[in-house]
Amino acid sequence: MYQEAWNLISQSNNIILISHLNPDGDALGSSLSLYPVLKDMGKNVHVVNMTLPLALRYDFLPNFAKIKSKMPSKCDLIISFDCGSFDRLGIDKSDIPLINIDHHKTNTNYGDINLVDPGKASASSVVLSLLEKNDIPLRRDVATCIYTALAEDTGFFSFDNVSEKVFEDAAKLIKAKANPALIAQKLKERNSLAKLRLEALLIDKLELVNDAKIGYSILTLDDFTKCGAIRPDSDRCVDIIRSLVTVELAILLIEENHSYKISLRSKDKVDVSDIALVFGGGGHKRAAGFTIQTKDTEKIIDNILNKVQI
Ligand code: 5GP
Ligand code: MN
Repeated sequence: MYQEAWNLISQSNNIILISHLNPDGDALGSSLSLYPVLKDMGKNVHVVNMTLPLALRYDFLPNFAKIKSKMPSKCDLIISFDCGSFDRLGIDKSDIPLINIDHHKTNTNYGDINLVDPGKASASSVVLSLLEKNDIPLRRDVATCIYTALAEDTGFFSFDNVSEKVFEDAAKLIKAKANPALIAQKLKERNSLAKLRLEALLIDKLELVNDAKIGYSILTLDDFTKCGAIRPDSDRCVDIIRSLVTVELAILLIEENHSYKISLRSKDKVDVSDIALVFGGGGHKRAAGFTIQTKDTEKIIDNILNKVQI
């Protein structure tokens, strides 16, 4: 598969690197990591994400400013990153060949070539394997992107997807001059005041059920307005709910224009990807999500609670 993917990349000239809507560090880091490599090979490369605005905490990633929210007209290959299902790319279906680079166990294998390895902690680790198998030396800008993605998807090396291999990969990236302290500071210590206000509000609205093993909260569009917050300010807010000592399952409902986006997190008892799949979403064992086309939050909560036993 890796060889097949590399052959297709080598034969293509106009390549789009695209990641999932509401991108996280893995989505942006893994897609940007291939940009310098493909440019060096003489390709025309476009980095696309259909979300506007992007979270600015990723602005230190090399070539972040190149990301566009529009598909270019000329393209002979699409490579998707960190995206479990085609609908999460936010683009129309086409006949253009697609390489799907991912690590979600719920991935629907929507690509013509699927480099999907649920054993890897990040989509960027799949990119790292692709580069290694083709003897591409790790440049500092590439290593920075891959490391950022790996650090975020492992909760800065604290989740249960952390293994000896993760640290081996991290060591290779640091050897290639990725800067762990700088990256952590850029990602974790540049919150907006609006985000802190949003977090205070979601804690204020927190509900606990099942002996406080389940915690849920809701952020409405009105809450965003009240706090002066934008959508990326709610990224990772669900982790605050999970951090409560009693909580095994954390649920955050985020209102969108015509729908609710649900984020699920668990500690070690619930496989939240199973729940997300029931509602047409996906994800990992400990982090998953879905979007639902209703504004009836009571019904959403009831439906989720009916699917869990803890
Ligand atoms: P988050 O709650 O941070 O948006 O997402 C947690 C995890 O679930 C991420 O790995 C994300 O890619 C995945 N995920 C979130 N929403 C969806 C969705 O609607 N569909 C799929 N397939 N995966 C999702
Ligand atoms: Mn990921």
